[in-house]
Amino acid sequence: MTIYKLPEPITAFLFDMDSTLYTNREYFQFQIDSPIRRLARLRGVSFDRMQQEIAAYRRDWAAAHGGQQTSLGNVFMAFGISIEESIRWREELYEPAAYLKADPRLQETLTTLGASCALGLVTNNPVFVARKTLACLGVDALFQVIVGLDTCGVSKPHAAPFLKALELLDVSPAASVSVGDRYDIDLARPLELGMGGILVDGVADVYMLVEALNLR
Ligand SMILES: [Mg+2]
Repeated sequence: MTIYKLPEPITAFLFDMDSTLYTNREYFQFQIDSPIRRLARLRGVSFDRMQQEIAAYRRDWAAAHGGQQTSLGNVFMAFGISIEESIRWREELYEPAAYLKADPRLQETLTTLGASCALGLVTNNPVFVARKTLACLGVDALFQVIVGLDTCGVSKPHAAPFLKALELLDVSPAASVSVGDRYDIDLARPLELGMGGILVDGVADVYMLVEALNLR
């Protein structure tokens, strides 16, 4: 876990979902591969070829943007798939129940954090997929706000989803912390907005938050 900046006191946490509230390599890979497989079919090329084209695009993009990473939604836009289409594909393809189950340690952690802070979810997955995922983990009732790809129509690291979540929770950026597993996607923009930021290496780090932030 890397803590970049913390407000004092903290009034709200904005959590990323995938690879933050759960760690599952197989599901992570499925979420990347399944839309690429569909894009390959649509363009009449092999899955391998499509993967290579996307990897090349990502490399070029990173080189042109000082080594930063972009979101899968933005990559698909570059290949002619609108955000609306990306949302539909994910809603059709992603089935978190096939990979995830209830997580009592996460429930306990979020319950403790939620006792003194508002909890929001900001994800590049559609809200429909987010609700199903949180329900699988058994933490759906603990979030006051869910902002997904379809809430603002743009994906993180755009500022809009973060600002929307703060607006819905009625908290200021300076009193909030973003928690996520990808610096460029989950933390860079929130830190610019004056929020705190915590980089986690999966859900095991989330379990440690109560202790690390002395919030018990
Ligand atoms: Mg993530």
